[in-house]
Amino acid sequence: MTATAPREEQLWSRCAGCASLLYRKRLRRNLDVCPECGEHARLGAPERLRQLVDPGSLSLLPDRLPEADPLDFVDVLPYPHRLTGARASTGLAEGVVCATATIGGHPVALAVMDFRFLGGSLGCAVGELITRAAERALDDRTPLVLITASGGARMQEGALSLMQMATVSQAIAALREAGLLTVSVLTDPTYGGVAASFATNTDLVLAESGARMGFAGPRVIRQITGRALPEGFQTADFLLRHGQVDMVVQRRSLRGRLMALLAATRAGRPARSPVPRQEPASHRERLADDGAVPARPRDPAVEGDAGTPAVRDAWDTVRMARHPGRPTTLDYLDSVFDGFVELHGDRLGADCPAIVGGVARLAGRHVMVIGHQKGHTTAELVARNFGMASPSGHRKALRLMRLAARLGLPVVTLVDTPGADPGVSAEEQGQAAAIAENILTLTVLPTPVLAVITGEGGSGGALALAVADRVLMLENAVYSVISPEGCAAILWPDRSAAPQAARALRLTAPDLRRLGVVDEVVSEPSSAAHDDPAETAHRLRAALLANLLPLLDVPPAMLVRLRRQRFRRFGANRVGVRAGLR
Ligand SMILES: [Zn+2]
Repeated sequence: MTATAPREEQLWSRCAGCASLLYRKRLRRNLDVCPECGEHARLGAPERLRQLVDPGSLSLLPDRLPEADPLDFVDVLPYPHRLTGARASTGLAEGVVCATATIGGHPVALAVMDFRFLGGSLGCAVGELITRAAERALDDRTPLVLITASGGARMQEGALSLMQMATVSQAIAALREAGLLTVSVLTDPTYGGVAASFATNTDLVLAESGARMGFAGPRVIRQITGRALPEGFQTADFLLRHGQVDMVVQRRSLRGRLMALLAATRAGRPARSPVPRQEPASHRERLADDGAVPARPRDPAVEGDAGTPAVRDAWDTVRMARHPGRPTTLDYLDSVFDGFVELHGDRLGADCPAIVGGVARLAGRHVMVIGHQKGHTTAELVARNFGMASPSGHRKALRLMRLAARLGLPVVTLVDTPGADPGVSAEEQGQAAAIAENILTLTVLPTPVLAVITGEGGSGGALALAVADRVLMLENAVYSVISPEGCAAILWPDRSAAPQAARALRLTAPDLRRLGVVDEVVSEPSSAAHDDPAETAHRLRAALLANLLPLLDVPPAMLVRLRRQRFRRFGANRVGVRAGLR
């Protein structure tokens, strides 16, 4: 094709499926679906909206947010340069376009992701814009339609991008409570943190023909398992066969199918929701008023004024967090809690050894404890799948969280996982949706939830246990949207840049405390947790009690409201967050 003149290149394009040379106008008339082989080419958000909504009904929602580079992230290119490049090449302000419109006369709010913009990655601005679209749906009492296309969370915004999974999920939970329909349409590709939150925790999940969706990407799974993947792995038909989507829809039928679903659900909807709805306006006013968010005591351990040791390099902290001698959840259940009674099983056919949970006592009070379990020896680690939970582990955790709420028990979670299980069967069993459901459920769980990052807090697998009223973190733990090795492999020339990636990701406890992701840092003995487990347990117990007791007096509805504010602010107050890092 090198001989083709530029003008001709605009007139013709080559199908990625069958390599046919196609007349562009004809292709566009056919909704960018190849007339020869049926390949669905990727669509930008503006073209997608044009195809779906009624002509003349589109009203774009504001897309300008304050600039933010919360981590001052630099890999081979500074993050702001990448943003500028994405804006220039797409003409979009961010990786999502939000709007109100009608589809077949039915009013909806829409958020359409655009894969061309930094891989459709979920950063704070994208999360904030989708959340606002959901809030608009709540205000207007209309369904919300999400069109997803994303590689996952935006690494350059670190753990703050991870928080967006919770922020958007709680907005979807509010629509659920209000009896308003939420629909996601999976388009190619939908992966990672987007798959494990709002792409799959909506009422209805449609997959466009040719779309692939999963939590872990095929390349990662192949690398880790060293095995060939089954034919058609993670494709729309695979998802349908494994019970993960409601239907697979050809692009030409998508608008008609949405119209039919919107009409059907509208017919059955009561005029007023039986559940008292949240008041979005006053909710936002409260958010705008900093005084409404309870002031948190400053932690001397991170202020550097209490004789704390010199700041450790982030990569050293990563290695410490992964130390095989570090106390595990079962160790803490023995040393911090009393009378632990383990509860097993997801009630769907499995019991994941990487998640342990059950009832226990903390200073005489009954609590539900749920945590990732690693091990100290190779045999233990293998038996526990290195603390990487399968979908059945996440479903066991979900069952125990709901049980705790029903029994009025506070939930304490102990997070120590490299991430969720990146395997073929985990994907077959709906890893993304299992994580997504836990995140959503935690945003509305009517009982106190206290999370502690005790070792490794690895991406969505960690967040599935860490949407909490208070999030504590041991001094030498780490919490990150991606492993430093994974980040280095993507943004640097190779994995040997993991130490630089660890620094850029701001994954240490003091950094995350400054970013507001973590409320309190629990200091470890001067040597480290693995050298003095008894002293570590003593400090953790004191921190748990100090944080849990005040929560016990808060009425459940208030708890849920404050928890939502806690996660909502990662989108809304990014600029302030950045200032705090300086
Ligand atoms: Zn083709």
